[in-house]
Amino acid sequence: MIFTETMDKIPRDEMEDLQTQRLRETVERVYERVPHYRGAMEASGVRPGDIRSLADLPLLPFTQKKDIIANYPYGLLAVSPEEAVRVHSSSGTTGKPVNVFHTKTDLEQWAECVARSLSIAGVTSEDVCQIAFRYTLFTGAFGHHRGAETLGAMVIPTSSGQTERQLLMLQDLKTTVLHCTPSYAVVIAEKMEELGISRDSLSLRLGIHGAEPMSDELRDEIQERLGIRIARDYGLTEVGGPGVSIECEARAGYHINEDFFYPEVVDPESGKPLADGEIGELVFTTLAKEASPLLRYRTRDLARLDRTPCSCGRTLARHSRILGRTDDMLIVGGVNFFPSQVESLLLGFSELAPHYLIRLARTNRGDAVNVDVETVPAYWAQRSEAGAAGLKQSVERKMKEAVGFRMEVVLLEPGTLARSEGKTRRVQDERRAF
Ligand code: ADP
Ligand code: ZN
Repeated sequence: MIFTETMDKIPRDEMEDLQTQRLRETVERVYERVPHYRGAMEASGVRPGDIRSLADLPLLPFTQKKDIIANYPYGLLAVSPEEAVRVHSSSGTTGKPVNVFHTKTDLEQWAECVARSLSIAGVTSEDVCQIAFRYTLFTGAFGHHRGAETLGAMVIPTSSGQTERQLLMLQDLKTTVLHCTPSYAVVIAEKMEELGISRDSLSLRLGIHGAEPMSDELRDEIQERLGIRIARDYGLTEVGGPGVSIECEARAGYHINEDFFYPEVVDPESGKPLADGEIGELVFTTLAKEASPLLRYRTRDLARLDRTPCSCGRTLARHSRILGRTDDMLIVGGVNFFPSQVESLLLGFSELAPHYLIRLARTNRGDAVNVDVETVPAYWAQRSEAGAAGLKQSVERKMKEAVGFRMEVVLLEPGTLARSEGKTRRVQDERRAF
């Protein structure tokens, strides 16, 4: 396969022509081949012939995670099982895992999408890419691996874990690009500091981090600690894993490979399509998938869309950073908030480390929110009781101002909370026990 960048700057009308043609083909194929889609379209009173342009998209039914689970394991396949050559499964951060299949062509197109994304982030064939996502059913490692190879970069498939060995590779093989979750980037930075490895002894220049939220504050901190620039990427297993979208150097949102993934933003409650610029749930229709095509898939991730050209010169539509996932949203005393808001606030304090756990409990006076957060070693070593009380109070005041209700902050010794090599669970909701 030859990697091409030609889509980057395609005029919008040409992109829309291509999307329209691919949408119509996809709709026809799933109607013919997948009983679930035929049934859902018939229930909505829509036939493939009704979908003539992108404006007709809202006529189509949504697909939800529960539809994939209900058709487990092969029910949504649009090819015969023999034509599928790979299966991946979501990491199950929230609930039951879902399986997604790929044909040979799907795998090639996936590699092309990730290669394009990496190129948007600034990776080139000269780079040495260390893939520290875990090689498993999860799509992160395989996606980044094939994408970097397709670009012609050298790939080191370290997987996650064995952090000291990871560092040896970083030093000896002169790795230039590190691919992993934000959580694991923190673990690597910590290990370097623990072993006294200076960031200047590394050749690392770029971090590609995704699969979970990373606040701007955490990004800036890791950039500083590792001496790199970071580009955050986005994807989800159901739609194809990494390669859906990525930040360019202008950092004005994530460019979407929209000739493969048609984006919409809808009101999460009513499902009504929202205009560009409005915040709502991201919805993707896959435009070229053979094995597991998806019509209007509800991602549960909140963002806004922007189809104006980017200052980097690319015309590919962008979505904002993921503002939260609807299934991650916490509602306390009628107020909504997301764990990533808490992260941004905590990292505004130089005494605090990016290790925290939000605990929710039900008391007879209503919901109580505790935030356990580690302090940095330099602070812990010279802390005083009065200083700690003052810090706790300032953090609590900041949280109250930003979120609107009181959270009890507990300052912890460095190293108290569990570290994660993949995604970190930031919330422990004990209210359900009642
Ligand atoms: P899950 O976490 O639901 O088990 P996946 O492993 O497929 O499933 O992860 C996809 C999800 O991870 C996305 O729907 C999104 O919530 C989250 N995610 C991925 N990349 C990012 C990112 N850059 N920023 C915030 N969230 C992200
Ligand atoms: Zn751009």
